[in-house]
Amino acid sequence: MSILDDFTKDALQKMQKAHTYRSLRRMESPESSHVKVLGADGTTRELLQLASNSYLDLADVRELKEAMARAVVEWGTGSGGARLTTGNKAPHEDLEKEIAEFKGEESALLFDTGYMANVGTISALCGKEDIIFSDELNHASIIDGIRLSKAKCYVYRHGDMGHLESCIRNAENSGGRPLGERLIGNSPVRGLIVTDAVFSMDGDLAKLPDLLQISEEHSLLLMTDEAHATGVVGKTGRGLAEHFGCRGADVTVGTLSKAVAAEGGFVAGARQLTEFLKNKARSFIFSTSMSPAVAQGARNAIRFIEEHPERVQRLRDNVQFFCKALQQAGLSIPSTESAIVPIPVGDEAKALEVADSLLNVGLLIPAIRYPTVPKGKARLRASLMASHTFDELAFAAKSIAKALRGK
Ligand SMILES: *Cc1c(COP(=O)(O)O)cnc(C)c1O
Repeated sequence: MSILDDFTKDALQKMQKAHTYRSLRRMESPESSHVKVLGADGTTRELLQLASNSYLDLADVRELKEAMARAVVEWGTGSGGARLTTGNKAPHEDLEKEIAEFKGEESALLFDTGYMANVGTISALCGKEDIIFSDELNHASIIDGIRLSKAKCYVYRHGDMGHLESCIRNAENSGGRPLGERLIGNSPVRGLIVTDAVFSMDGDLAKLPDLLQISEEHSLLLMTDEAHATGVVGKTGRGLAEHFGCRGADVTVGTLSKAVAAEGGFVAGARQLTEFLKNKARSFIFSTSMSPAVAQGARNAIRFIEEHPERVQRLRDNVQFFCKALQQAGLSIPSTESAIVPIPVGDEAKALEVADSLLNVGLLIPAIRYPTVPKGKARLRASLMASHTFDELAFAAKSIAKALRGK
């Protein structure tokens, strides 16, 4: 056996033992609330899906699909280069304008994915002399961006503003003066607070007004990642700032792959910020731009969201209805302002068992377990769509409660 064989076999066996081994599920239909899934026995089953990030269910909408197909015919299949070489096509710039308008910001910059937006932005803004304050439940792409930046990182307890402030004071004390006033050579040390806007595994919101106040008080930059907020949070789906009725963070990252149902990531903020990132963010500079047809598709979808605020409202109604139905079935579920409803289980094996039994009644609701969430904090993670019916959600709530009781 080779070193690689030994190493991978050992690692796989360990994961199997710990019930953390994962495999891919093959879907035989487009993303929507009803999906066809290939089972282990080789047959295809139709399932009601409460597992998608496509919260507004826009991936399979006829007018959007047809418009994207026309964009392929007009713009071709691929972009052929990075944005700074030959890959800057009109649809990329038009989409950036659309995003900036939608977010109420001066400017926006596209990345190929939200992951790349986080990694590129954080590592461009911060270097090894700088200091980052990061919520302990931040997304992996934020964590990887921090690692890449080599900045010193303080991880504050989830959503705990008191702990964040004490981390900031520690950082200030260890350097003898406020971060914004401390100099390395001629440039001030930058401090950055970074947080998910909607936390992917818990569905709760970052406290934007508090974070704005703290960041202003201590002369820190504030960055929010609106991956699960865009198209979902706020009356018309414009995100945290709309929800709280305040200004946005200095740097707002988002994705076009979730509610927008296309692909790509973005940063929205001041024009100077996006100009800086164009020149400094390596994941922007050194990667081929997204297909222009995808950019056109994302732009159409954002317009669709603007023209159909009732779809955002319907999603919110669904979340309320579903949480109430779970509570009425005896589960203690906190209500949420996002489309993510976590249902605590605890044990990894039990979570898998419950998810399996839900599959048997036609429900796709994934078990989330270590390493996505801490050990012993396994859960079912239901995510809702605007297109779910109340009947479907009532059935799902009843089935979940029954499966958790093990009967
Ligand atoms: C999904 C997600 C990302 C990554 O976005 P992609 O476009 O899928 O790469 C980044 N941050 C958060 C919080 C996410 O949930």
